[in-house]
Amino acid sequence: MEVVVSTRNKDKFREISEILEDSSIKTVSLEDFPDAPMVEEDGDTFADNAAKKALVLARFTKRFTVADDSGLEVDYLNGAPGVYSARFSGVGATYQSNNEKLLQSLEGVSEEQRKARFVCCVAIADEHGIVGIVEGESRGIIDTQQRGDNGFGYDPLFISFDYNRTFAELDPSEKNKISHRAKAFAKAKDVILKYIKENS
Ligand code: IMP
Repeated sequence: MEVVVSTRNKDKFREISEILEDSSIKTVSLEDFPDAPMVEEDGDTFADNAAKKALVLARFTKRFTVADDSGLEVDYLNGAPGVYSARFSGVGATYQSNNEKLLQSLEGVSEEQRKARFVCCVAIADEHGIVGIVEGESRGIIDTQQRGDNGFGYDPLFISFDYNRTFAELDPSEKNKISHRAKAFAKAKDVILKYIKENS
């Protein structure tokens, strides 16, 4: 079965395709649907955003579709930046300006209260509606300075409990074993395989 992965980012597509790899699944990216609409991520939760994206694109492509939304939740900030992770520092936000704002927001805050989690929600839909929504998380703590050159976004500030190093200090292969995205898409694969079994 063809599964549309709702991203135009080649790296993300490759990473997700590797996780979903199975003889009964053929992944295609949004690059194959150049006229697909851009979906505004204006929901209150990661699940709202992922579901909206999956539904709009499943209806447009008339194919089974997976869509994700992800971000960082910090305990001391009551779950912020959350769905605003990409634009935490406002209009024109960059990874660097977001990381600077996060460090400022946590200035003088104890280690205990710097706990955080990366969350990824994946919604799975066909043109008739949502088939499933799954979530993956990766827990850690926000560092007091940026460390490491790999990855993107908040990676230089997120010390993973699994490795005791920041995500930016990990090889991509290490991060991909325990990341919120890897866990969520592994669960999504189970949902897709169950759907294929029940509908064939
Ligand atoms: P998206 O929904 O996957 O595009 O992620 C939204 C934002 O969350 C990104 O712009 C990053 O700021 C942050 N984010 C999500 N996943 C990660 C990650 O694995 N590392 C660092 N930042 C992330």
